[in-house]
Amino acid sequence: MGYVLYPEVFDISQYHAITLASADDGLLRLRAKANDGGALLARDVSALAIDTRSVPGLFQPSIVQINITPPAAQTYAAALSSGVALGCIDCSRCAHPHLDLGDFALHPHRRHLCGHCGYDAVHGASACVSTPLQRLRDYALRKPEHIKQWF
Ligand SMILES: [Zn+2]
Ligand SMILES: [Zn+2]
Repeated sequence: MGYVLYPEVFDISQYHAITLASADDGLLRLRAKANDGGALLARDVSALAIDTRSVPGLFQPSIVQINITPPAAQTYAAALSSGVALGCIDCSRCAHPHLDLGDFALHPHRRHLCGHCGYDAVHGASACVSTPLQRLRDYALRKPEHIKQWF
């Protein structure tokens, strides 16, 4: 198992026409145009951090960064193509957005176990597979000029 220390931090508010995809080689492909000058940012990385302070209201105020790792990205891409119900449930105790991986990402459920604090009674309004990537995608869909493709 490998870990990425200090993944590149991407400020989503400083770019437009953003494309983020999980490639066959396991890397995340990020392409984006800078709002200031339109320069193309191109990164093929194993992990990426999204600075969420620039999109206030999207996550609880204590959440400053969402780390996108290869398992999270691959799971999300598979969940999108399988058509399972997707959502993003915040832990009612520690506020971290819940990430379902493995079998949990194949079967929508209402009761979630928080991977951050261990609280095991995080209930969503309806059964879903939870991932912060879905909330970021929903945000993107509300701003069509902002994101070209999000997986
Ligand atoms: Zn869950
Ligand atoms: Zn928690």
